[in-house]
Amino acid sequence: KPLVGNLIGEDHVNYVLMYNMLTGIRIAVSRCQAKIRRPLTEDDFGACHKYSFDIIGNELTPSAKYDFKFKDYAPWVFRELREDYFHLDPADYLLSLTAKYILSELGSPGKSGSFFYFSRDYRFIIKTIHHNEHKFLRKILVRYYDHIKSNPHTLLSRFYGLHRVKLPHGRKIHFVIMNNLFPAHKDVHETYDLKGSTVGREYPEDKAAENPRAVLKDLNWINRGKTLELGPEKSALLTEQLSRDSELLKSLHVMDYSLLVGIHSMRRGNRDNVRSNTLKVFSPEVPLTRRKTVKGPKSPDAAAVRRAMRVSNLQPVDHVTFHLPDSDTGERQHFIFYQDEGGLRATDEANESLDTIYYLGVIDILTPYTTLKKLEHFWKGMQADRHKISPVPPTEYADRFFAFMRAVIRGGEGGGRFKSE
Ligand code: ATP
Ligand code: CA
Ligand code: CA
Repeated sequence: KPLVGNLIGEDHVNYVLMYNMLTGIRIAVSRCQAKIRRPLTEDDFGACHKYSFDIIGNELTPSAKYDFKFKDYAPWVFRELREDYFHLDPADYLLSLTAKYILSELGSPGKSGSFFYFSRDYRFIIKTIHHNEHKFLRKILVRYYDHIKSNPHTLLSRFYGLHRVKLPHGRKIHFVIMNNLFPAHKDVHETYDLKGSTVGREYPEDKAAENPRAVLKDLNWINRGKTLELGPEKSALLTEQLSRDSELLKSLHVMDYSLLVGIHSMRRGNRDNVRSNTLKVFSPEVPLTRRKTVKGPKSPDAAAVRRAMRVSNLQPVDHVTFHLPDSDTGERQHFIFYQDEGGLRATDEANESLDTIYYLGVIDILTPYTTLKKLEHFWKGMQADRHKISPVPPTEYADRFFAFMRAVIRGGEGGGRFKSE
């Protein structure tokens, strides 16, 4: 049983999509990475590199199992973000995602129809996004980049790449790669998705009791009397960063985002975790007999490139036990809100550590206040108090969000400790 989500095997409906996404990432990212770093130019933000994959292959792309087209957006910008500001090791990034073609699918947890895929080590999330979200991210990329540069400790989603797969019948799938806020090595005992809105923002408590992985909402948080237990130091830092982040979202006219809160109780520990899985995996190795021979004139170069990149088709290998890491490694150490076991450890009034770790981040930040939302606003507004429903205009949304988050953080003052397990 996978940790979360369903592993995608060859018989899975989204197997081809997964294969194409990972092949595209592997080739496009390694191509960009192979070049010598240079300072970014204005054009880099609007850039789009195109690749065409087929079963035969060519000088640019190795042969692939399926025909598809792949676009890599602003590759130089994302490369700089990853290396300089998100502190990812380039080789690590590619290996985590594509050394083995293993992803687990979370299906579509939200209303939006997006699909979520975890890399096999659980570090990265691939989220398919709507065309509007894709256009929006491209439009705001300069602003996003500037914000990341001046806010290295931001709580906003860390976007590592923006890509598109186009299938032969014309279907286009846009997706981003981002950080998984939740670490592989710690059980998350409670999860909340908080927007600062109360209308319709409740997960049924009776169902929550049966499902420890349920994502709870604002009303559950309020009714359970939750607060983030943070002493003066951490709460000041967190409030300041959340204020800066929501100011950016306000000025970008974004809405519908939320603060995702994962809570790990150190006393409860990792008892519920699945620490390793035995899976059938596929390695990107191609058995020579299954490869098509290239017809027509061949340049010696082409053959060499193909040989060097003979990594396209998937071949089943034996059952492999894959272990999740026992400790936090890597990039999280660079960020103040992700430094304690990959998260933020609770503290008391004297800034002394308590036995809870929070995993926090602002997610779903690519929804601009479009006509669609205005319509939704109109309809929902007729049934409920206009200010409590989610789709209010961006300024109001940001102010309400931030006010709620202040209460979430500061509510603990005066003694309201978690009624821990
Ligand atoms: P909707 O628009 O209906 O809210 P969506 O498809 O845009 O949904 P999100 O809101 O981005 O989806 O995420 C849905 C859920 O997936 C979150 O509540 C959270 O449980 C999980 N999730 C999303 N992003 C992350 C992340 N970066 N790390 C960990 N979990 C995440
Ligand atoms: Ca959401
Ligand atoms: Ca969304």
